[in-house]
Amino acid sequence: MHLADRMHRIGTETAFKVLARAKALEAEGRDVIHLEIGEPDFDTPPNVVEAGVAALRSGHTHYVAAPGIPPLREAIARYIGETRGIDVTPNMVVVTPGGKPIMFYAILALINAGDEVMYPNPGFPIYESMIRFVGGTPVPTPLTYDNNFRLDLDHFRDHVTDRTRLVILNSPANPTSGVMTESDVRAVADILADRPDITILSDEIYDRILYTGAHHSIASLPGYQDRTIILNGFSKTYAMTGWRLGYGVMRPDLAEWITTLMINSNSCTAAFTQMAGVEALNGPQDSVDAMLAAFRERRTAIVEGLNAIPGIRCAMPEGAFYAFPNIEGTGRKSDPLATELLERGGVAALSGTAFGAYGEGYLRLSYANSLPNIQKALERIADVVAVPA
Ligand code: PLP
Repeated sequence: MHLADRMHRIGTETAFKVLARAKALEAEGRDVIHLEIGEPDFDTPPNVVEAGVAALRSGHTHYVAAPGIPPLREAIARYIGETRGIDVTPNMVVVTPGGKPIMFYAILALINAGDEVMYPNPGFPIYESMIRFVGGTPVPTPLTYDNNFRLDLDHFRDHVTDRTRLVILNSPANPTSGVMTESDVRAVADILADRPDITILSDEIYDRILYTGAHHSIASLPGYQDRTIILNGFSKTYAMTGWRLGYGVMRPDLAEWITTLMINSNSCTAAFTQMAGVEALNGPQDSVDAMLAAFRERRTAIVEGLNAIPGIRCAMPEGAFYAFPNIEGTGRKSDPLATELLERGGVAALSGTAFGAYGEGYLRLSYANSLPNIQKALERIADVVAVPA
């Protein structure tokens, strides 16, 4: 079989591979603590589940409009408009099966071979994968522990070139849990001010999982809404990863092109999933607050526990639900340590390099797990790194 050349350029999301290996070990009778996969361990709120079930029972089992059902596009327009302080109309919204397709479609729609795309590294692995897949040139902006995982603005400024077409921002960030401050967002906007030809893909999927301060979107700044594609979704905020529901908010002409990509690939997002999404956005929000309170407690536990292990130092996550400890002091590299933790220690974690070359020296641990499991995982990690490499 002859695979297309582009298939040799596509990457993957290692979390799914580690999950498969962890499941295989469990099938052999091993006890594994799962800190690898990026999903809340909570159930979807019952009112949202009921809305989905009621939708199925009342016949929402057919194709629907490709960019999303009107009540959901309206609810999203209202939510993004109110929270970002901008004017959003439903024709700017494209609903997709998860937030991920918005990355896929935006990069397919905007990037030609040789175009440069700036993206955070370590960052969500699909950014680099898709840039390479379409023949674009990935231009990483390093995020470092010493800079509190904020964008290195000097590095960023120095790497904008005539060929830059797209800038990807992600705040709160996966895997570093860093957050862009208002001044960071303004500084990026200033750097891009005289380059209206550069589009911004602002991945804001963790906008509600924020421990201090407010969320800042570049789309809120004057002149930037038209240049920005906001990526967001229901997976994290409402613990709906398996429902597959996300969206992009963008200028209406681009929304039509992205809708054409939807028609060519998915046709539409499942109708009952969208009905559940309407309830998620319009219904009570207390489940989001409860989840955040639980994450806050676990965040303290995991960060204090990691910092007590010799050779490990971990910053306090400002958003999302990942600890991203620096492990250089253990004398180990990230990949072998992640493998050792799983195979010997029974802790499924991800190597920082799963998020790009600048992830060397780090691990990503999701603390979307119970406090007792987090404590047990910390003991196991301490035991593994206590043995010289
Ligand atoms: N963006 C970031 C930064 C993520 O971490 C994820 C999921 O892990 C996504 C987007 C995609 O989420 P979804 O499951 O809605 O496709």
